[in-house]
Amino acid sequence: MAAFFDPENPASRPAYRSKHRTQGFAVRDTRARRISRRWGEVLVPKVGWVRFRWTRQLPGKLGICRVTCDRAGRWHVSFPSPQPAMEREPAGRSAGIDRGVRTALVTSAGQHYRAPRISGRRAARYLALQRKLARQRKGSKDRERTRRQTAMIAARATDRRKDWAEKISTRLVRENDLIVLEQLNIAGMARRPASKPDPGQPGTFLPNRARAKAGLSRSILASCWGLLGRRLQEKAAASGVQIIFVHPRFTSQQCHACGHIQPENRESQAVFLCLACGHGDHADRNAALNILARGLLLLATGELVPAHAPGHGALRRHQPAQAAAGTTLEAA
Ligand SMILES: [Zn+2]
Repeated sequence: MAAFFDPENPASRPAYRSKHRTQGFAVRDTRARRISRRWGEVLVPKVGWVRFRWTRQLPGKLGICRVTCDRAGRWHVSFPSPQPAMEREPAGRSAGIDRGVRTALVTSAGQHYRAPRISGRRAARYLALQRKLARQRKGSKDRERTRRQTAMIAARATDRRKDWAEKISTRLVRENDLIVLEQLNIAGMARRPASKPDPGQPGTFLPNRARAKAGLSRSILASCWGLLGRRLQEKAAASGVQIIFVHPRFTSQQCHACGHIQPENRESQAVFLCLACGHGDHADRNAALNILARGLLLLATGELVPAHAPGHGALRRHQPAQAAAGTTLEAA
């Protein structure tokens, strides 16, 4: 309720807990130990020692851990710790990043990063399962099985996407001292992400399969961007790298060489050709260079946009706006 009444916080009204979402509980005074190279154990009250797959180093001091069961029925245990600082040398480089249309990301250095997409076959199966689900009786065992199958496809897609976002954000933070991103209204651009399909929602059952499929891949791209923005902020704040958000207006229509703005500058989706000076470039790279230039200008004039400005979408809705670290001059 405190977050809801805070005008700075975009959290919505507190809601009842849904049985359809990820379930879990917290364990206090965590005790965990490693039993082999692959396995560890955590002491869960009233259950005893529960084995888990050892995937990474545990934080030095164990406090609360959280045990969850996601929608696909997979159990996880997580041991929270602050984001560790990255081992990096000052790179002496800055990057502007454009959210391209086809490739997910284009940097001002001309690197293209493509977000993992759901394959055509999997998307078709996902949509077919959703139609099947719509016909099944609520509360039936068969329906639960179908639901779990859709959740599994979505969960695997989410896993790949998270992996990608972690790798790309690490690489970008390691290679750059300053990263400039566009301030985007992600919630307004995309539908709900594929990891949270809502069978009761209209739109997922559109009779036209091509439209639904396009929506699926679009929302995957959009959710990649939000996740990546958030992880970039967290890693940058921990590693002394600065992140700046700039207004995205006209970044794709402006010529980076002469500053001329005209919608016709864009010869095609991929090629930029300036009508005033004849400057030609890859369209997304031209936009990334504009974003970088705007960020450097903001840095020079000191008029930075706060990272928690409403509508950025890189922040989760129900979280307090504390991720703003690393976006101010003091944090650099
Ligand atoms: Zn020009």
